[in-house]
Amino acid sequence: MELKEHFNDKIFHLISQTADELGLECYVVGGYVRDIFLNRPSKDIDVVVVGSGIEMAQAFGQKLGKKAHVSVFRNFGTAQVKYRDTEVEFVGARKESYSHDSRKPIVEDGTLEDDQNRRDFTINAMAVCLNQARYGELVDPFNGLDDLKERTIRTPLDPDITFSDDPLRMMRCIRFATQLNFYIDDVTFEALERNKERINIISRERIADELNKIILSPIPSKGFVELDRCGLLPLIFPEMSALQGVEVRNGRAHKDNFYHTLEVLDNIAKHTDNLWLRWATLLHDIGKPRTKRWEPKVGWTFHNHNYIGEKMIPDIFRKMKLPMNEKMKYVQKLVGLHMRPIVIADEEVTDSAVRRLLFEAGDDIDDLMLLCEADITSKNEVKKQRFLDNFKLVRQKLKDLEEKDRIRNFQPPVDGAEIMQVFGLEPCREVGSLKSAIKDAILDGVIPNEHDAAFHFMIERAKKMGLTPKE
Ligand code: ATP
Repeated sequence: MELKEHFNDKIFHLISQTADELGLECYVVGGYVRDIFLNRPSKDIDVVVVGSGIEMAQAFGQKLGKKAHVSVFRNFGTAQVKYRDTEVEFVGARKESYSHDSRKPIVEDGTLEDDQNRRDFTINAMAVCLNQARYGELVDPFNGLDDLKERTIRTPLDPDITFSDDPLRMMRCIRFATQLNFYIDDVTFEALERNKERINIISRERIADELNKIILSPIPSKGFVELDRCGLLPLIFPEMSALQGVEVRNGRAHKDNFYHTLEVLDNIAKHTDNLWLRWATLLHDIGKPRTKRWEPKVGWTFHNHNYIGEKMIPDIFRKMKLPMNEKMKYVQKLVGLHMRPIVIADEEVTDSAVRRLLFEAGDDIDDLMLLCEADITSKNEVKKQRFLDNFKLVRQKLKDLEEKDRIRNFQPPVDGAEIMQVFGLEPCREVGSLKSAIKDAILDGVIPNEHDAAFHFMIERAKKMGLTPKE
């Protein structure tokens, strides 16, 4: 198919007419053009006008009529036109120059060439002309098309300048390589190594945005390997770097928790696009470096790494400007519980253990099970199969018990208020201990999850404590 035919939509012809009427050169540029060649659908259209982008947007908005909505951002010299579910962003072609301590450039009007020079990567710098006389003509001064074919990320100009001018581009470089499964050109990569410290002038929010896109990629490990290889990882995520390395004592080595984590992350990426479940996976062993011990009779241990990991998470989220809300709590919960299904599957799968797990995980039980299955990365096939079989058993038991006892979101059928009322008590230790005895009896399967059984159990237990119901 000819390139022109990708611009058959009425919207492009209207942009073309508007530009010709105003006597302005105009081009579709950046991600939209790249994505045509990658066969990826994209809705956001960026248009560069050699002249005023705002004037062009206003004239185009008028042509579209009432259904179009034009927003003008004078400070940035850009304007956006929304029409049905399409967004077109207009910008005047510009030339940018940077000072050392800011990623905000000094901007002047420029030519198309100037505008292409300020783009981050050759594959993002291609433009397609929309003026009638040259409709559908590709302007590709840096051979972005060849780089697309060779699946290569490369900067259009000297990469040291491109990255040092706006260090966010270093994160974007690794993000595009990961999302698209492209190589980073060696010269570009070496500039990442040289300019890594410049990342410090970028806001944490922007870094987190790029990191989230890496995590949501089909094979997220690729991004972390590149971040590590160029030296950015310890600067933006030191806790993750600390997972690296293998120590050997008496010929006994523990696994490299960095590569293990990445394997688990790639595993879970095959099953879910839930960003926070992917974060929980990334952080599931984050407490290991702090809990590592050599115990002469046992070897390497990481006791309580799940609890320590759970405790580390608020600090990590705060530093990275990730949301400190229920998303973080969810990640903490999964990290805290991630050893439980394995422990259950390693021993006999008892009803009581499964009920307790269900009680603590609540609605997040299915996500927890996904995480734990992804966590089985043993190279020993027999061992791996035994775990997977036992997990099947845990899942079956979870289903049976949930149907029978409705433990998920379980509230004990006799609550504190009823206990206080029956025995004429104020809030005190006895009330708490009766409450947890009832909960344990239900979770251990001693009594069914029903009011009368729980009430009877409470009376008997209270008797042993010297309590009698008030008249
Ligand atoms: P995606 O939508 O997947 O993020 P995109 O390429 O459309 O991909 P945008 O961030 O919308 O990404 O940017 C649009 C275009 O603007 C890019 O293709 C690129 O040409 C240019 N661009 C964006 N950010 C930068 C930057 N920091 N430095 C240089 N050029 C940039």
